Amino acid sequence: MIEPADPRSRPLTAEAKAPKVLVVEGAQTLSQVLQHTIEREIGAEVTVCHSLAETRVALARTDIDVALTGHEMPDAPDGGILALLAEYQVPTILLSGSVSEELRLNYAKYRLADYIQKEGPAALPAAVSAVERILSNRSVSILVVDDARAARADLVNFLRLQNFRVIEATTGRQALDYLARDPSIEVVITDYYMPDMNGYDLTKSIRLQHGSDRLRIIGVSASRDRSLSAQFLKAGASDFLYRPFVPEELQCRINNTVETLLQLKRLRHLAEHDPLTKLYNRRAFFERGARLLARLDGGHGQGAIAILDIDHFKRINDSFGHERGDVVLKAIADILLEACHEKGLIAARLGGEEFALLLPDTTIANAEAVCEDVLRRVRQCQVGVGDTLLPVTASIGLSSLHPGEPLDNQLNAADQMLYLAKSAGRDQLFSESGIRNN
Ligand code: GH3
Ligand code: MG
Ligand code: MG
Repeated sequence: MIEPADPRSRPLTAEAKAPKVLVVEGAQTLSQVLQHTIEREIGAEVTVCHSLAETRVALARTDIDVALTGHEMPDAPDGGILALLAEYQVPTILLSGSVSEELRLNYAKYRLADYIQKEGPAALPAAVSAVERILSNRSVSILVVDDARAARADLVNFLRLQNFRVIEATTGRQALDYLARDPSIEVVITDYYMPDMNGYDLTKSIRLQHGSDRLRIIGVSASRDRSLSAQFLKAGASDFLYRPFVPEELQCRINNTVETLLQLKRLRHLAEHDPLTKLYNRRAFFERGARLLARLDGGHGQGAIAILDIDHFKRINDSFGHERGDVVLKAIADILLEACHEKGLIAARLGGEEFALLLPDTTIANAEAVCEDVLRRVRQCQVGVGDTLLPVTASIGLSSLHPGEPLDNQLNAADQMLYLAKSAGRDQLFSESGIRNN
């Protein structure tokens, strides 16, 4: 059995770098157009090669994330380029002049992630979106659940060619265990017949814990029972396929599933974030706050809540215009985002020039130090008008979190502290602990 990868071992920085794309194409014009379009639309670093020999050098020099290649090169008329790319395990998209039925049915056998027909106006956008999809697949984790080794290996290899991160489970219980440990899993592909728990029961169990807006399930089976698909779909699966798969159909269905998840993620992001500052909005703040309070209610740890309000913000708007005001709002939000990364707090824009902070797992003394640091950074914030820097300050009201009390009341407590900070002259922190901090 192939040892399942540890679900927690994925490097967090994998998505941060510009992806590296290799274009292997004998025709100069086409390779140039592909290079410019991929660079512009995807922000990838593109290396262009025109022969097998050049490709060999490029592969030895750079780790390539995706390759887009023609079938024949001047120095390799027989498709040797595909063997070379397979040797380096580069996810490969074939740009082909003619697509035979044999290729369509067996492209996974040639270790291809996808193929694109070279001719016609649709070729370029299709190639770019295939590259984009294969690149984004690497941040999607799929759990494959099947006790039959050969069937599982086939599916796993196919998914790895598509650049997905794949985790394998051999039983339903193991699958549930992996799902509990690894929140990054977004798709489960499960077989029906398994010794401990069949795929249908597994689907029902998963749905008790995970909604279909974050986790999609695809059922598969070699069974001849035509009612299985309906059973799976009713239990909460998003899709079902009978084995043996037509690879192209399997790929299209998985792509649809992943695309739906991406769209839901985008919608969730829009619904939870303030478009100007990119911070959480009021609603998301209350949702997260309620979750944190529930955790505190369970007796685990302590926390604090704060409101930050920019001082005399109306004057900034009146004197320098609304646009400059927006720049100040974004600068303050960036300071808060930095504090989120460094100190693990949760920041949101409540509305206007008012921001809320949740400080989990911290004492009030620590929370005071974090807020003081934020105020210091606000004073140093560099928003200019012409040659001069705008003086920007803010005030903060801080209160410790009390489990069992509604978040509204706790925010009010912080707001009362904020009122005191404003009355005392602004540019300072007032904390419920009774200490005025300058
Ligand atoms: P204080 O020190 O007492 O907080 O005074 P202030 O001027 O900051 O507070 P006030 O509540 O009087 O003014 C807030 C201003 O924020 C008024 C409103 O026009 C402005 N504002 C609200 N939302 C936005 C926005 O999205 N962009 C900009 N530029 N201004 C905004
Ligand atoms: Mg204000
Ligand atoms: Mg205000």
